Amino acid sequence: MPPQNLRIPGPTPLPDSVREAGSRQMVGHRGPEFMELVVRVSEGMQPAFQTKADVMILTSSGTGGLEAAVVSFLSPGDPVLSVSIGNFGERFAEIAKAYGADVTTVEFDWGQAADPDAVRVAIKAMAAEGRTPKAVLVTFNETSTGVTNPMADLAAAIRAEAPDTLILVDGVSAVGAMPLEMDAWDLDVVITGAQKAWMIPPGLAMAAASDRAWAAAESATMPRFYFDLVKHRDALPRGQTPWTPAVGIFFQLAAALELLEAEGWDNVYKRHAACGATARAGLAAMGFDLFADPAFASNSVTSALVPEDVEWSAINKELRARNLVLAGGQGKMKGKLFRIGHLGDVSVEDIVSAIEIIEEGALAAGVTIESGAGPAAARRAGKEA
Ligand code: PLP
Repeated sequence: MPPQNLRIPGPTPLPDSVREAGSRQMVGHRGPEFMELVVRVSEGMQPAFQTKADVMILTSSGTGGLEAAVVSFLSPGDPVLSVSIGNFGERFAEIAKAYGADVTTVEFDWGQAADPDAVRVAIKAMAAEGRTPKAVLVTFNETSTGVTNPMADLAAAIRAEAPDTLILVDGVSAVGAMPLEMDAWDLDVVITGAQKAWMIPPGLAMAAASDRAWAAAESATMPRFYFDLVKHRDALPRGQTPWTPAVGIFFQLAAALELLEAEGWDNVYKRHAACGATARAGLAAMGFDLFADPAFASNSVTSALVPEDVEWSAINKELRARNLVLAGGQGKMKGKLFRIGHLGDVSVEDIVSAIEIIEEGALAAGVTIESGAGPAAARRAGKEA
């Protein structure tokens, strides 16, 4: 099977050195070699979180990280405000509900970002009922819609209204792809996932937590075991994880960090921004309606509406026949949206090439497109970014 031209928002293609690291022989996970590796990767991720807190590494997908954030710091019955702008916002709220949190949701139209003032109003209303939220759940980058929330502004609004409330952030498709300042923005828990900006296979979730969160953990009573972050925190100084870790993916994370560090985090973010600009310009010039509010369009995933007179499955068939793999819509946007992932090991050239294939495939599926306009606009935007 030839390698796919994989342009979904995770899993992302792996650089060669990362693939090679995955074929290394195992080491004992309770010995000095693994200890060195844990320290290396945990410290190596801190610049992307911009935190002094330890970065814990869980062997699970990103959803496990979200579950860990809920169960480690909250108790059944705790009032929780969920700020939802899409499918993953809904998932975070569902996890909290599943463990018995008393969840109130403030929802924004899909394609839009959350409005900090509206979040303040929602917190005020809960406080007026004597239900000041113990935690607010926020998705930094909503992968289902291609919208990046104004995380710093949202955190400031939450803090102004509820100084002691925990801010739990789903940064699964954000951390490492766009600047995040966990400590400066006063975020309490930030979660990310391996198969996104980190250029490694699925299987790890990474989490960092503030002192405020650890204080809350002392009285948190949600049932938990595997996803108890206190156990992870306590194992870290020994260079261990509480349970047998996905050792091979840790090797790969170390290899990926070598590449990211050599590039420099600012350049990594600039590259993602350039890829985002390229995708948006290319799709718009072809005549696709971009779904995300342009002021909050994500630099890790771009979403566009499927034209009304064509089925997504027909376009997708043509793209697949050309080996290009994109993502469709999720939840209520299934069949109505398609998404290009541009995070991890991706260049402007990769996205220009994807735009060329989308033009060809969409034309073959019967979409009316001015030939050449998309790739030309994509190339231009990539150069200017
Ligand atoms: N949150 C966001 C924003 C995501 O993009 C994803 C995955 O796409 C998840 C959570 C869930 O992560 P996983 O599929 O690794 O469990």
